[in-house]
Amino acid sequence: MEAPAEPLAAVFRRLIASCGPITLQHFMGEANARYYAGKDPLGSAGDFITAPEISQMFGEMIGLWLADLWIRAGRDEAVHYVELGPGRGTLARDALRVMKRHGLEPRVHFVESSIALKAIQLDAVPQAQWHHDLSSVPMRGPLLVVANEFLDALPVRQLVRTAQGWRERMVDLREDRLVPVAGDRPMDAAVPPEMKDLPEGTLIETCPGAAAVTYEIAGRLAAQGGAALVIDYGHAEPRTGSTLQALRAHTMVDPFAMPGEADLTCHVDFHAMARAAQARGARHLGTVTQGDFLRALGIETRAAQLAAASPQHAGAVRLACERLVAGDQMGELFKVMGLAAPDWPDGAGF
Ligand code: SAH
Repeated sequence: MEAPAEPLAAVFRRLIASCGPITLQHFMGEANARYYAGKDPLGSAGDFITAPEISQMFGEMIGLWLADLWIRAGRDEAVHYVELGPGRGTLARDALRVMKRHGLEPRVHFVESSIALKAIQLDAVPQAQWHHDLSSVPMRGPLLVVANEFLDALPVRQLVRTAQGWRERMVDLREDRLVPVAGDRPMDAAVPPEMKDLPEGTLIETCPGAAAVTYEIAGRLAAQGGAALVIDYGHAEPRTGSTLQALRAHTMVDPFAMPGEADLTCHVDFHAMARAAQARGARHLGTVTQGDFLRALGIETRAAQLAAASPQHAGAVRLACERLVAGDQMGELFKVMGLAAPDWPDGAGF
């Protein structure tokens, strides 16, 4: 048997003790790589639950949106379904079932880094091909890209305005505890000109990895055709402040206490994502709340249909629908961003 890996907190302590503080971006990247590598964090027995795990209706609405667009774009048969961070493969399975009903049977590509989750995805969608990143996804044929709760797991960089000027947020040791601190090196050059004069204490969070992935998706759409749906919690307008949080067993915990053992996430800056996509030549169809999007696609009709088909589950179906669309649940905080190739039609719901 393999020896259990050394806790990541111990690795960080040793590294910081000998080399000094590390950036928050480094900390979050390593912590999530370790976190996702070894386990299935999803569902009621895990650390958090996602929309496709709440109800099949979520994946069905995504499948419907993609099929509708594909039909109106001219039914190109060489089309690829590409999902980033597909979790248990539930969303893909539900979406592909609906797409097939509309004559859409794309080849399936999963971008996934976790060995543990790959094994579960193989059961759900046996025909999928796996990739480490987008670079090995075929360059010909339109892409139908889906990313649900993927960008929020990518590491962020935080800059904070101190009395001495702008500094990067780092992780340091205080009596053996990992704690966030402001770094020593001046970072004023990294701050956008319009934000330089914000008051002391202001924090700016950016996610270089999320911007890079969005930029790459946009480039592929512009070159190959297709569309993308990016769904996550976040904000459509720029704002300041830290959104870093850690979830373990459905409870918020200190993000610095147990690196690698809790899910670290940040809100997605959809304003920045839309700008990155447009800079690369894709069309921004819009960014709307998850509640508005799912309602526009007819989730309430679908819920009524499912309830009528199995009255013993009617209550559970209604609750699941509520959870996905209600403003005080996932409906407002979660946003849906649509992107498309310049010559593809508009998508429903935007
Ligand atoms: N989309 C799924 C799972 C969300 S959890 C759902 O909605 O249920 C985040 C997913 O992204 C997991 O599958 C995780 O393994 C994957 N992931 C996280 N960081 C990644 C990275 N850097 N590269 C590839 N996959 C990553």
